[in-house]
Amino acid sequence: MDIKGLIRTIPDYPKPGIMFRDVTSLWGDARGFRRVVDELVQPYAGTRIDKVAGIESRGFVIGGAVAHQLSIGFVPVRKKGKLPWKTLAEDYALEYGHDTLEMHVDSVKPGEQVLIVDDLIATGGTVEAAIKLVRRMEGVVVGCAFIVDLPDLGGRKRIEALDVPVFALASYE
Ligand code: IMP
Repeated sequence: MDIKGLIRTIPDYPKPGIMFRDVTSLWGDARGFRRVVDELVQPYAGTRIDKVAGIESRGFVIGGAVAHQLSIGFVPVRKKGKLPWKTLAEDYALEYGHDTLEMHVDSVKPGEQVLIVDDLIATGGTVEAAIKLVRRMEGVVVGCAFIVDLPDLGGRKRIEALDVPVFALASYE
């Protein structure tokens, strides 16, 4: 069974010229979902991980499953204004304009080792904001794991330049 074969590609979504990689078709397949979780945790065997941080919203689904698999805690990285307690915020650039990610101020303790999880890395701007949030809490980002990497958009290099290893299961040139 091929992970890529279960990821649906939708041309011109959300706007003309974009090839949207839709992982919901993969999650809907029982063996596909199990396999993705099993394979995403594999590189971290032998690494101490204290928490998974999942990025809203597809990172909640896959990050929650990864945290459960590792028997560790899960903390959410959310869009601005969604978290109920005190937060730290980081702005990041979008193609047009900017957005903000937030984490609860006490969601990562100093010295905790954190794995950041999302469905896809493109330019890396989103995950870079999450790395900054974890580091502001003095957490250690041991890696970032994705189902899909779009290497042409440069995210992997950008994140590796921050000394964070990037792992992805499927890549689309
Ligand atoms: P980046 O910040 O440019 O790396 O974009 C990554 C973010 O955009 C992630 O949170 C993804 O969920 C989302 N994203 C961008 N392109 C796609 C896509 O083709 N499929 C699914 N999510 C995407």
